[in-house]
Amino acid sequence: MPQHTLPRPICSHCDGFPTVAITTGQTTPDGHRHTITADCPACHGTGHTTPTRTDTRVGV
Ligand SMILES: [Zn+2]
Repeated sequence: MPQHTLPRPICSHCDGFPTVAITTGQTTPDGHRHTITADCPACHGTGHTTPTRTDTRVGV
C-alpha cells in the first residue's frame, strides 16, 4: 500500500492527538460535563515532533 510521506513525523508522545479533553468531574450550568483541554507538552499541541539533529529515530 503506497502511503504519502507525512511532512513531519507524528509526535510519539501523544501519537498525533495533541489536544485532549479532560473531564473535571463537575458539570456546567448547562448540565454538560465540564472539560478542560490540555495540549501535549512534547509537541505543544501541534501533533508533530520537530526533527532534531541529535536524536533521530529511524524505523520502529
Ligand atoms: Zn505530542
